[in-house]
Amino acid sequence: MNLMYNSTRNAGKQVTASQAILKGLAEDGGLFVPERIPALDIPLASLAGMSYQETAYVVMKQFLTDYSEEELKDCIRRAYDDKFDTEEIAPLREAGSAYYLELFHGATIAFKDMALSILPYLMTTAARKNHETREIVILTATSGDTGKAALSGFADVPGTRIIVFYPKHGVSPVQEKQMVTQKGANTCVIGILGNFDDAQSGVKRLFADQKLGEELSEQGFCFSSANSINIGRLVPQIVYYVYSYGRLLKDGILTSGEPMNVVVPTGNFGNILAAFYAKNMGLPIGKLICASNENKVLFDFFETGVYDRNREFVLTSSPSMDILISSNLERLIYHASGRDAAMNASLMRQLSESGRYTVTDEMRAQMCDFAGGYATEEQTFEEIRRVFNESGYILDTHTAVASRVYHEQFAKDCGSVPAVIASTASPYKFARSVMTAIDQEKYGVMDDFGLIDELQKLAGVPIPRAIEEIRNAPVLHRTVIEKNEMESAVKRFLLS
Ligand SMILES: *Cc1c(COP(=O)(O)O)cnc(C)c1O
Repeated sequence: MNLMYNSTRNAGKQVTASQAILKGLAEDGGLFVPERIPALDIPLASLAGMSYQETAYVVMKQFLTDYSEEELKDCIRRAYDDKFDTEEIAPLREAGSAYYLELFHGATIAFKDMALSILPYLMTTAARKNHETREIVILTATSGDTGKAALSGFADVPGTRIIVFYPKHGVSPVQEKQMVTQKGANTCVIGILGNFDDAQSGVKRLFADQKLGEELSEQGFCFSSANSINIGRLVPQIVYYVYSYGRLLKDGILTSGEPMNVVVPTGNFGNILAAFYAKNMGLPIGKLICASNENKVLFDFFETGVYDRNREFVLTSSPSMDILISSNLERLIYHASGRDAAMNASLMRQLSESGRYTVTDEMRAQMCDFAGGYATEEQTFEEIRRVFNESGYILDTHTAVASRVYHEQFAKDCGSVPAVIASTASPYKFARSVMTAIDQEKYGVMDDFGLIDELQKLAGVPIPRAIEEIRNAPVLHRTVIEKNEMESAVKRFLLS
């Protein structure tokens, strides 16, 4: 029996996993969720002996039940190969009194690679299984890291095209350079004069536009998504939490069944939702600590039960978390409502109409595993400095938000339960912020690549290939548009 998926806004209509991946977003604007969260079907103790790829298989086969064993193993093998600069794929690194789960060893040095290196394989396999003959057009909104990871995954993949929208003034210089130098005739990168929420809402509108859908379908195209609204992003992200538990067992930090806590620097709520799914599969996770930067809409939500996006959007040094509408929260809301699609749809309508909604006390009780915290810009820089001075380990700005939140607000109460902090980007990707956090006077005057060379001296780890690649790469994408011009930009790329 296949595990089926339905929209968070309509539980009546079910699709298989491969259909959900192919569609990306449900037609009613909802997100696909599995009808139940499946349990891990192996003894926890066996995780200690498993490689990343083996762990990926035991987790993903529970969710993607209409993929054959051969198909799934083939996707995993092709995704988690020497595109990653370490065989461990996601090493767990102890520094200070926490464990940093390094999710940045892939092609674009941010955690998006963990899922986006496998999504193109899952997607093209899904197209084959469902006899989809149209060309798949991946529409992506990015706060900086998804864009490059998706471009790198889908570039020159036959049968696909990819269009990425990023906030022109809302990403780091390295992030922008990585995207606008992307090669591949099927790629298109567009800056919009707006923020990430504008890009994401615009993409969702394009998905919902039936007239556009039909027009492009006649021309042989169908849309899908590489954002974490696609369940094909979420499932591969569950894997590394399960893997990290195996590492803690192997190193004798935990014995089988003892809990770990998880701390996640959060934006669109995809990464931490994957940890929630891992917990519901039976992985012993205690707290799910959701760390925000100054855009602390999620912190306020967990404190009060009120989600309110009506506030100033702050550009911070952790741009991949500069988000006021966290899409994946919808999946948690649906779950916490007891899978009440009508209730969820009504809350989401309130969000789009008034920018806010309030959940019931019963729903809050269902979310009690989550705890929120946030760090200001100054606290984030302090944390980078503190960890570097105390252990020589260099955090990127996003990881530093999580690290600060954990150490300041939670470590005391967590006793001996180990904390796994999701380390979501390489410090090289945010070299300017990281280096000026360490020493403003010395590094504040240097240019971006000068800073990267200095970072290399301090960190003592080689400069990632992803950085060397862009040092002298020519800019290939220069289009910048108003935020209401997204539809015409899509048509121009596909139809001309
Ligand atoms: C995307 C991203 C995040 C936020 O992850 P979500 O799944 O959107 O919550 C945090 N840090 C970095 C470096 C990212 O790229």
